[in-house]
Amino acid sequence: MSKFFSQKHSRLIPYTPGEQPKNMRYIKLNTNESPYPPSKKAIEEASRQAELLRLYPDPECSALREDIAAYYGVEKENVVLSNGSDEILNFAFIAYGDKEHPFVFPDITYGFYSVFAEVNNIPYEEIPLEDDFTINFDRYTGINKNIVIANPNAPTGIFAPLSEIERVVSSNPENIVIVDEAYIDFGGETAIPLTKKYDNLIVVQTFSKSRSMAGARLGFCVASKELCRDLNTIRYSINPYNINRMTLAAGSGAIKDKEYFERNRQEIIKTREKTAEALLEMGFTLLPSKTNFLFAKSECISGEELYKKLRENGILVRHFTGERICEYNRITIGTPDEMETFVNTVKNILKD
Ligand code: PMP
Repeated sequence: MSKFFSQKHSRLIPYTPGEQPKNMRYIKLNTNESPYPPSKKAIEEASRQAELLRLYPDPECSALREDIAAYYGVEKENVVLSNGSDEILNFAFIAYGDKEHPFVFPDITYGFYSVFAEVNNIPYEEIPLEDDFTINFDRYTGINKNIVIANPNAPTGIFAPLSEIERVVSSNPENIVIVDEAYIDFGGETAIPLTKKYDNLIVVQTFSKSRSMAGARLGFCVASKELCRDLNTIRYSINPYNINRMTLAAGSGAIKDKEYFERNRQEIIKTREKTAEALLEMGFTLLPSKTNFLFAKSECISGEELYKKLRENGILVRHFTGERICEYNRITIGTPDEMETFVNTVKNILKD
């Protein structure tokens, strides 16, 4: 830390992203990216914009907002776009959090929530997950605090029914509830329709996972027009050009290619189920996943050792050090071939 760094950030512990190795000799199952390329339509539309890069992008992002609104049956004014969903989450913390309006989220969830709170000097409280890693929604009803819930949750992969989400939203009418649906397309049910009924609900999604665009950085939220205006006030106060031309165009191409999206997500779900079966046969304990990853532990090997051995064998998975989850590894679902190699490698490791 330099002597110039503001005191207010002196205790900040930044978010640690998963490894992004420079040599691509690894089978990369550590950051929940899609193993499939983006839609050809996304690539074509983005390439066309390359020639226009001398010009700023549309700060209103009108075309893509219209496409997303049409896809989800809402209006363009109900959609705000961001540079990855991380950015819209941060905007929401900035917009709605302060000393009188703290945030609440599970103790085991996406690690960035606490960082957003810390960097914006917003108090927060972590509510422990149950022993089976589910969320106890009773602890979120009528609490009069801002709430963030990842549904499905990460890194557990567990999806909670919409009735539970609605109970939280309806019982905290004076506070904001953010539902982070980064993994919703792998078997969950979106809360977007509820945004028409509740003026305190923000549903956040991303193009990083099911639409194979992690490198383009594109996220969005759906919420009431009034909430979207708040979020745009923050967006225009930080970076009105937060989404570049090529990403805007790629997003439009991707969301229009329903067939490709459907095929990929079904393939990933199928591969997930097959991988889960193989791991169960090897005696692993798995949490029920509705995401593009599995959260798994074995009685025969520690979480850390399995992570290290896989790495030595050219396979990267994500290992967390938190006390309750250190025996687990989070394994992103790759192609069927990659997962076959993964399963065979685990078998060999367990044999040794
Ligand atoms: N929410 C959750 C639960 C995530 O796992 C991630 C991915 N790391 C994000 C949000 C952010 O994704 P992105 O910024 O790529 O949209």
